[in-house]
Amino acid sequence: MIILGSTGSIGQNTIDIARNFNIDIEMLVAGTNIQLLQQQIYEFQPKVVVVSNKELLSSIKSDHTLHLLYGEEGILKGLEICSSTLVLNALVGFLGLKPTIHSLKLGKKVALANKESLVVGGHLIDSKKIIPVDSEHFSLWFLLHSTQKPKELILTASGGALRDTPLHNIFFQKAHDALKHPNWSMGKKITIDSATMVNKLFEVLEAFWLFKEKNIQALIERSSTIHALVGFHDGSFKAHIAKNDMRLPIAYALAGKDIFEKPCKECDTLFHPISLTDIQNIHFEEIMLERYPIWGLKEQVLCNPLLGIIINACNEVAVEKFLKDEIYFGQIAQSIFAALEKFHIPPHSSMPIEEIINLDKEVRYFTQTSC
Ligand code: NDP
Repeated sequence: MIILGSTGSIGQNTIDIARNFNIDIEMLVAGTNIQLLQQQIYEFQPKVVVVSNKELLSSIKSDHTLHLLYGEEGILKGLEICSSTLVLNALVGFLGLKPTIHSLKLGKKVALANKESLVVGGHLIDSKKIIPVDSEHFSLWFLLHSTQKPKELILTASGGALRDTPLHNIFFQKAHDALKHPNWSMGKKITIDSATMVNKLFEVLEAFWLFKEKNIQALIERSSTIHALVGFHDGSFKAHIAKNDMRLPIAYALAGKDIFEKPCKECDTLFHPISLTDIQNIHFEEIMLERYPIWGLKEQVLCNPLLGIIINACNEVAVEKFLKDEIYFGQIAQSIFAALEKFHIPPHSSMPIEEIINLDKEVRYFTQTSC
């Protein structure tokens, strides 16, 4: 298989699953964490390795023949060189879009963690070739197989790092506080997106493109034990309850659901069952707009999913600024509302990838200079 973003939070969990299920890795892609990438190269002996820029190439050592490439072009070329039919895309941000589309064009299956691929390019992606790795969408996939037509899909949210911060203090929070996620250990960008609720807005779009359903709701479930629910026309619901461990969706994506049909030694060591105490702690809360103003955009993005391109571009720039302490927490949402005021996409339009890339650049420039 191929792992894009092998040194990140999802990437390292993927390595763990690949190691336990003896899955060969043909290609590794990383940004700048050369030390960890080097360990992965020695352990898995991939045919292709891609890093983010040319200067890093000389620091990679290998005791076997290796195609060493760099940058976005390198990722696309590497995908062509490799014969693996499964790609796990755990890159972060807009960078993940082209590799997702290119992998599908090459006839490969994509285990997709990179939610931004769907947020900005869902209309260009054949969801039948996608195995969802994002935990809520894995749960929805789990619930939707072998069931009748759903009436609604419900995602759950932890509420993020600032869920209990007094409302009057939220606007002026700094990165240091917003990075303390209560339940999940994830990359910095998605941790901030959880605190603003941009992450849940993105997951609504992901669910829309993956399952082609428009009735999508979300609720706060603080313990991250229920990841998703499906509601039916008879008034009943099914909920997927599991430990908050990304290795579960990744294992389904890499090894297939059949491995869980019978007792499995690796599964017993890797996955811990839910306990009664976990279930006792479950309760739901509404997502309050006073705390998460971004959530007010949900119906608008479901009516016009291409707005994801504007929101994503602006959010990536704003989150980067926030992480450098150049703006306050509240300014992330402010800049998204400003970008949506400035740029317009007619509803129901489609957009080729070249136009997506241009719009992405324009929104980034606008946010960079105005926020
Ligand atoms: P991380 O920031 O932890 O990892 C990102 C990965 O991308 C790293 O391997 C990084 O390399 C690599 N990367 C970054 N820039 C480049 C570049 N220019 N060229 C090549 N590689 C690059 O992110 P996460 O693992 O948390 O998230 C990955 C994706 O999965 C995101 O889209 C996120 O929203 C989604 N996701 C994550 C979840 C989680 O639990 N973490 C849950 C559900 C979805 P390096 O570190 O070497 O610089």
